[in-house]
Amino acid sequence: MLLWAMHFRWSRLQRSSIPWMEVIATTMIISESKPLEEVLEMLAGYDSVFVVGCGECATECQTGGEYEVNEIGKMLTEAGKTVTGSLVPDVTCQVLDTGRLLRKSKEAVSRADVILVIACGGGAQAVAASVDKPVVSGVDTLFLGDTVRHGQFYEWCSACGSCVLHEYGGICPVTRCPKGQVHGPCGGTTDEGKCEVNSENDCVWVLIWERLDEIGANKDAVASAAHEPRDYSVHQRPASRIFEPRRTK
Ligand code: SF4
Ligand code: SF4
Repeated sequence: MLLWAMHFRWSRLQRSSIPWMEVIATTMIISESKPLEEVLEMLAGYDSVFVVGCGECATECQTGGEYEVNEIGKMLTEAGKTVTGSLVPDVTCQVLDTGRLLRKSKEAVSRADVILVIACGGGAQAVAASVDKPVVSGVDTLFLGDTVRHGQFYEWCSACGSCVLHEYGGICPVTRCPKGQVHGPCGGTTDEGKCEVNSENDCVWVLIWERLDEIGANKDAVASAAHEPRDYSVHQRPASRIFEPRRTK
């Protein structure tokens, strides 16, 4: 079983041109820095700024770690702003922790006209929930990403709320097909097996088909099984999940 798993992992990584030794098993919120001009535009009218980053996803994305917080601080100073202080919580979207840390920095926070957050939108809103000040986001939040290696993130799940991975050999057509084709390929797959929307990517249905072969699944059954219409009502926004934790760790 172990050998099979290693073989499978190796063959997939070979096809993906991904060095398997560098694989990191992490899913995170992927963000991208906004251009400085856009940040300065949002900060127009504010003289003093307190900067908040994030020690988790934004650090890994190199958009809001300690380094980026220091760098944007220098750029803001050069642009004539007063940076009253900064903070990089371990995980900024942990609302209560972030609120507690901001209270510990309350003197620097109170001197700021505005809070610039370079963490995901969830982190920025955790800050907004904790301070009585305008909050500006200095990054764009892009997607939920699987990390293959440092600096390489792929959207493999879009948190649809109704997982059907088992029907497709563990590869998600909902997310990995730009058209969300869950009933089979769209007809535009290239002869090389690439996606007609983005020829850089394999058509997800080629990946699914190969995967079904690899795991010895009955492809005819998969092909002929008409997938039930998806229930999009399960993914209503804003979503929440509240439960009584059974474990403390
Ligand atoms: S079906 Fe795809 S998008 Fe939905 S939960 Fe499963 S992996 Fe995520
Ligand atoms: S070529 Fe494949 S991945 Fe691309 S849109 Fe069509 S079915 Fe989806």
